[in-house]
Amino acid sequence: MQANENAIRAVVEEVLAELGKSPRQVNGNSSDPNGIPVVKNGTSFSNTAANGYSGGSGNWGVFESVDQAVAAANAAFKQLQSKSVADRCKIIQIVKDMCAQRAEEWGRKEFEETKIGRLDHKIGKLEIIKQVPGVEWLKPDCFSGDHGITLEEHAPFGVIGAITPVTHSLPTLAGNIVNMVAAGNSVIFNPHPSGKNIACEGVQAFNKAIAEAVGIENLITIIGNPTIESANGIFQHRDVKMLCVTGGPAVGRAALEARKRAVVAGPGNPPVVVDDSADLELAAKSIVAGAAFDNNLLCIGEKEVFAVQPIFDSLMDAVSRHGGYRLNAQQMDSLTKLAFGPPKEPGGHAVLNRDFVGMDAAWLAQQIGLSVPASTQILYAETDTSNPFVPEEQMMPVIPFVRARDTMHAIELAYEFEHGFGHTAIIHSRNVHAMTVMGKLMNTTLFVKNGPCMAGLGLGGEGYLSFSIATPTGEGVTNPATFARSRRCVMVDELRVV
Ligand code: NAD
Repeated sequence: MQANENAIRAVVEEVLAELGKSPRQVNGNSSDPNGIPVVKNGTSFSNTAANGYSGGSGNWGVFESVDQAVAAANAAFKQLQSKSVADRCKIIQIVKDMCAQRAEEWGRKEFEETKIGRLDHKIGKLEIIKQVPGVEWLKPDCFSGDHGITLEEHAPFGVIGAITPVTHSLPTLAGNIVNMVAAGNSVIFNPHPSGKNIACEGVQAFNKAIAEAVGIENLITIIGNPTIESANGIFQHRDVKMLCVTGGPAVGRAALEARKRAVVAGPGNPPVVVDDSADLELAAKSIVAGAAFDNNLLCIGEKEVFAVQPIFDSLMDAVSRHGGYRLNAQQMDSLTKLAFGPPKEPGGHAVLNRDFVGMDAAWLAQQIGLSVPASTQILYAETDTSNPFVPEEQMMPVIPFVRARDTMHAIELAYEFEHGFGHTAIIHSRNVHAMTVMGKLMNTTLFVKNGPCMAGLGLGGEGYLSFSIATPTGEGVTNPATFARSRRCVMVDELRVV
C-alpha cells in the first residue's frame, strides 16, 4: 500500500514538473504553489532559471540596451501568462494607487523635468489614472446553438513596444500599463528624452511593488537613455509583437513603417465651432477650460475657434469673463512672430518655437512686453485663417478666433484646419442639425458637443479615460481590448445545456 502511494506521488510530481507546476527554488527565492519565483520584501531576483533570460543591466526595469530590455520583458510576459487574472488586477491597482498617492510628488517632478504645462494639471493627470479601464473591460463573446458553444476571448500579444510623449510622460506610461497589463502583456517603453527621468522613476517604483505583490520583476521595462535609434530598435525587434506610439507625425510614420501591428495615437489640431444658437457663457467657459488645461498640451485641446458673425463679438466678451486675456491685432501679430518661424520651404509649415510650447499665458504675454495677471488662463485674439495659430498645433494657451459668415462656413473651416487627422472636433450649439452635419463631415475620433475637450475622455462627459487616442490607425480611445488578440474556442455539438 505504502509502495503504491509512493509510486503515485512520484508520477504526480513528474507530471506536475512537466507542466512546469512543481514547486521549486529559484536562485534562493521561495516559490508560490505555481512554481513562479516569489520575491520577498526588499529582495531582488534573476529570472534566468525560470525563463531562460540571461540577465542584463536592468535596474528595476531600467535598461540601456533594447535587446536586454526586450529579453527581460519577454521573460516577465511568460511569468504573467501563468498568473491569475486576480494577479493582473493587483498589478493594475498598484499602478493606480501609486499614481494617486504620489500624484503631488510625481507631478511636481514631471513639471520640473519637462518644464512645460501646469503643475496643478500635471498632478491632476496622475490622480485620474484610476479612471483608466482594466480587466473588467475584457468581456468574452459567446455563441450557443444546435452545434454546441463557441467562446471568443481576449488573449495577450506578448511584449508591447510603447513610445510616450513629453506632454504627458508618466500619465501616458501609467495609462498604457493599465490597459496593456489588463490584457496580459508586458511592455518596453522608449520615453521622450525630456521626460525620461520621471518615466524611469515611475517604472522602478511600479516594478518594485509588482515584484513584491506577484513575484514578477521586469513586467515594465524602459530605456534609460532613449534615442531615435532605441525607438527604431524597439520597432524592429522580433520579440516585440505590437507597437503603441503616442506622439507627433514623425514617430507615427516611423511606427507604421515597422512590419508589425502599430497602434498610433497621433497629432491633432482640434477646431471649435460656435454657432448663433449656442449658450455663449458655457461655450466661453468650456473653450477656456479646455485650451488652458496643462497650457494646451493636450492633443484633444481646443486649438482654434470658428464663431459665426452674429455672436462673434459677444463670444469674445464672454471669453474675457472666464479667464481669457484679449490681445489686439498688433499684440497678436508680435506674439505670432515669436511663436512661429517662417516655413522652411514655400507653402510649408510655419516652424513652431518649442521654447513657447506649454508655457503660461502670463509668460507668453511678457515676451511681447505685456503684463497680464498671473491667473490668466489663455491669451486670445481675432485673426484670419492665414495666422499660423490656426493651421498649426501650437500647444500653448494662445487661441485664434476666426469670424465665420454662418454655421456652414464655420464647419467648413473646421474641416479644413483639422487637416484630416480625424482626431477631435468640438461644437457649441443647440442646433441638432448643425451638430449632425459637422459630425458627419469631420469624421473625428472625438466629437464633443457643448463642453470642454476633456469631456471626450470621460472627464465631465460619459466614457472612459486614456492618454493614447489612436487616430490614424482607428482604434480610438485605447482600452484593454486594443491590446488583445481575439481567439475563438469551439465545442462542437456538446455543452449547450439549455
Ligand atoms: P514628439 O512626436 O516630438 O515625440 C513623441 C515621442 O516620439 C517621443 O518619445 C520622441 O522621442 C519620439 N520620436 C519622435 N520622432 C521620432 C522618430 N522619427 N522615430 C522614433 N521616435 C520618435 O511629440 P511630443 O512633443 O512628445 O508630443 C506632442 C505630440 O504628440 C503632439 O503632436 C500631440 O498631438 C501628440 N499626442 C497625441 C496623443 C494622442 O493620444 N493621439 C496624445 C498625446 C500627444
